[in-house]
Amino acid sequence: MDRRTFLTAALAAAAAPALRSDNSPLWGGPVLDTHLHLRRDPDACFTHIQGCGVTNAVLLTRAPDEAKAMEEMKRRPGHFVRSVSANPAEAGGVDAIHAALKQGAVSIGELKYHLALDSPEMGRVYDVAAEMNVPVMVHIQTYPHFNGELPYNTGYEHFDKVLRAHPKTNFLGHGDLFWAHISADVPTDRAYPLGPIKPGGLTDKWLSEFPNLYADMSANSGNNALSRDPEFSRGFLERHQDKLVFGSDCSCTDGHGGGISQNNNPEAARLAGKCVARETLALTQRLASPTVFRKATWENGTRLFRPHFS
Ligand SMILES: [Zn+2]
Ligand SMILES: [Zn+2]
Repeated sequence: MDRRTFLTAALAAAAAPALRSDNSPLWGGPVLDTHLHLRRDPDACFTHIQGCGVTNAVLLTRAPDEAKAMEEMKRRPGHFVRSVSANPAEAGGVDAIHAALKQGAVSIGELKYHLALDSPEMGRVYDVAAEMNVPVMVHIQTYPHFNGELPYNTGYEHFDKVLRAHPKTNFLGHGDLFWAHISADVPTDRAYPLGPIKPGGLTDKWLSEFPNLYADMSANSGNNALSRDPEFSRGFLERHQDKLVFGSDCSCTDGHGGGISQNNNPEAARLAGKCVARETLALTQRLASPTVFRKATWENGTRLFRPHFS
């Protein structure tokens, strides 16, 4: 790290707020949800984490909503940090990301745009992530959830080239296709494959091979992949215990499955009426040792996102 990069990173860390690390009443220790979208009423995020026993969260924030996220952080001190996202293909997108990181955003994401993973636009974001020493989370999905939906972050089959070309960037993989590749056979006619996993999947392989690839466990995609073959999952969780990062991507209102969850995505109906955070935390607790559960739900996320603690 050169002096300028070091100073920039140090300033960003100083601007980051202090997090409390209370024990969850439900999960035996603090729990960081690294994938909680900022809601129209930002305090609904607090209602959600309280309902499902999550103690802290990264508020996924689009650049224009930064002020809203910061207000919520002030209102519930110690519980939240924030990310930043903007479309790098639009004028000012990369600059907005850079500026928010300098103002204390702790990560970039989620990046859910119709770009190729190896496009020059995404490359510029990876460079900013490396410079600022923050992780970048990418939503990888090609199979449409509704008629006419275009693919996001295409070219996952060659993502190893990106991982190799950006060794100083920490990537968090997320979304349907990232998790479909937990298996070596990936059907092209559905978003969330079911049934036994065939060993040798790209995601499994690359998590082992590349120190800069992490897995975001959020959403139906993460929950489905870790549910479909429990015997395989036990080994997967053990193998990648330092790479798995809990997140919910839940849209239920109360942390108990209330409201409309999984809307606009009939294929994810298996989690309708359920809280994704609760489901994935319970699943991880069933499949992993207490040590690995703690790593996935707190230690890996706090190491990667580097929020400050009080
Ligand atoms: Zn997503
Ligand atoms: Zn929920």
